[in-house]
Amino acid sequence: MSYKEFDLSDNVMYVKGVGAKRAKSLEKLNIFTKYDLLTHYPRTYENHTSLTKIGDIVIGETVLLVGKIYGLTGRDTARGLKIITAVLYDDTGEVQLTWFNKEYLLNKLRDGMRLLVIGKAKEDIWSPIGLSVNQIQNFTILDEHEEPPLGVTPIYSSTGAISQNILRTAIKNLLDSMPRLQEILPQNIIAERELISLDTAMRNVHFPKNLSELNAARRRLAFDELFMIQCGLMLIKMQTQDERLGINHAEDGALVEGVRSKLPFELTKDQQKTFDEVSKDMQRKIPMRRLIQGDVGSGKTVVALLALVKTVENGYQGAMMAPTEILAAQHYEKFAALLTSLGIRVGLLTAKVTRSTKMREEIYRKISAQEIDIVIGTHALIQEGVSFAKLGLVVTDEQHRFGVAQRSTLEKKSNLMPDMLVMTATPIPRTMTLTVYGDLDVSLIKEMPPGRKPIKTKAVNMDARDKVYEFVRSEVLSGRQAYIVCPLIERSESNRLSDIEPAVEVFDMLSNGILRDIQCGLLHGRMKPREKETIMEEFRDGKIKVLVATTVIEVGVDVPNATVMVVEHAERFGLAQLHQLRGRVGRGADKSFCLLISDGKASDGNERMKILESTNDGFKLAEYDLKMRGAGQFFGEAQHGLPDLKIADVFRDVDTLLQARDAAEKFINDEKNLNYFANMRKNLAIAYGDKFKRITEA
Ligand code: ADP
Ligand code: MG
Repeated sequence: MSYKEFDLSDNVMYVKGVGAKRAKSLEKLNIFTKYDLLTHYPRTYENHTSLTKIGDIVIGETVLLVGKIYGLTGRDTARGLKIITAVLYDDTGEVQLTWFNKEYLLNKLRDGMRLLVIGKAKEDIWSPIGLSVNQIQNFTILDEHEEPPLGVTPIYSSTGAISQNILRTAIKNLLDSMPRLQEILPQNIIAERELISLDTAMRNVHFPKNLSELNAARRRLAFDELFMIQCGLMLIKMQTQDERLGINHAEDGALVEGVRSKLPFELTKDQQKTFDEVSKDMQRKIPMRRLIQGDVGSGKTVVALLALVKTVENGYQGAMMAPTEILAAQHYEKFAALLTSLGIRVGLLTAKVTRSTKMREEIYRKISAQEIDIVIGTHALIQEGVSFAKLGLVVTDEQHRFGVAQRSTLEKKSNLMPDMLVMTATPIPRTMTLTVYGDLDVSLIKEMPPGRKPIKTKAVNMDARDKVYEFVRSEVLSGRQAYIVCPLIERSESNRLSDIEPAVEVFDMLSNGILRDIQCGLLHGRMKPREKETIMEEFRDGKIKVLVATTVIEVGVDVPNATVMVVEHAERFGLAQLHQLRGRVGRGADKSFCLLISDGKASDGNERMKILESTNDGFKLAEYDLKMRGAGQFFGEAQHGLPDLKIADVFRDVDTLLQARDAAEKFINDEKNLNYFANMRKNLAIAYGDKFKRITEA
């Protein structure tokens, strides 16, 4: 069969052994096409490459045995279990085999049969042999002289209706019907990096004969994935590094210096160094593409502020995009307070503004007439009608909340190629930075502003809740403020009976109870923007002392007088999220506290609490998080909008990643490849999620 007749984008139901009904169930595994099935790589493998002699069995190990059986019997236990036993022997010894509730085996097996058995060896005082294999995962009846079928067995993610066996058979059938896969990598890269062919890799990743075959297959497929991503990132970088379009800003002048001298504090060394790097980038004609990584509270905002002022000083406009309205409004207020008196016009563009046609048109007009110098906004900034007269700098705050695509939509709001600065508090190890932000240069803010006292974190049980509220009360009475964060807003049909008290109820309980005489506020995502703003304002001004909120306050919110963060049902939140929440306090000179209330039921929850108690360091937490959850999930959250990695693991495959990056760099820089990657560019585009796939199919 030629490749033409075989189309990997065909519906998976046409694979032998699948059909319409199973195809429906496969959708749950995100398998729709033959390609999806082909790249439904095994989750793990069972390695059955070597037989154990019965005489060599070590208790506790999983063993693969070949022998003959005698003494097959079935009996009932007192508790109604059916137990089938037999003795398996080879020329080195005997072991008892035990099956539970498999009565049909009495018909299937006979004394004298030869079997291949996989199971776990246990000490068994009830058996005369003293040794039993009783967690039998699998067995095969062999003919007298048959070679036992050894190998590595793939284990797939599966769902109820689709068993391992169905998946294995379907994939086997697909591979058998598939003509030789065409290469997608240039031959010289394959040779230079000593990769095996795509065809072999794809077949062996599913059914490797041994571990070295498997490793070679994984390496090839991981290389492909990482190579494609690296090429994509480099193409983005190349597109934006066109000197003709860039802006060169002048050296810092009176305006930048003026703002700096008006700041209520000195920049830390890291802030200064980061701003110098930013400043230098902006002065080059090649557009800046820089990422600032700094833990929660390290003071990234002020660096962005200075950069925005610099672009204004040079006659351009600046834009800053924040992930929530609350955060945008907060930045707006701080910036306006500092800049308006210097003649810099700051504007706010959020959903609230754009809901009124009149206000929307007014601000759109001002932006396009350059009557506003710095616009702070949310997603509203990247709406259709927004267009800048002279956009010189784009800042994205809390970058991890946005996709690559959104970031570049904002860039395109101008016919210039603006400089770009992105900021994130998500600490990512370097190798991962290469993958996620491969198109960016990185600045790090490691040190915290001076005078910070470490936040004291304590995990407590539900029954200590009242003590926690007492503590909140006493902190408030001595002049401080507190947050109380709840996982839910209010009860709905689906959580009617949940034992989790939502924000609305916690607010009622406290403001009518122990905090009766204290001004409390309630803040959550379902409130109108106007209401949210008023509440935030009152909290910032110190009128509201205790803010009961959902995670709308998770990122960025900055009220230095708040010293207590209480998280209800902390077991419901992930490490990174709890760290972000904790970052809302400890922003002033007073000692701050983070109290994590949990029900103590989830054991991984307890572990998270312990880790948080033990460190305030975001990078350390990220490492734990990675260990606990695996790179896949972490990666997914670190950056929306990149293609999922189906096989590469940015930790396990660091070498492959570095090689792929190197190969991609050479490949992209080679003029001869222009045609090749004109195509690739089309496919990768900007949000290359889906398109990534089509390249591998081409
Ligand atoms: P993040 O990096 O989390 O965005 P922010 O920029 O919100 O942090 O800064 C946290 C707090 O630290 C703010 O209240 C800010 O005014 C303050 N801050 C920033 N830089 C300094 C500094 N160099 N000295 C003292 N306080 C600072
Ligand atoms: Mg911030």
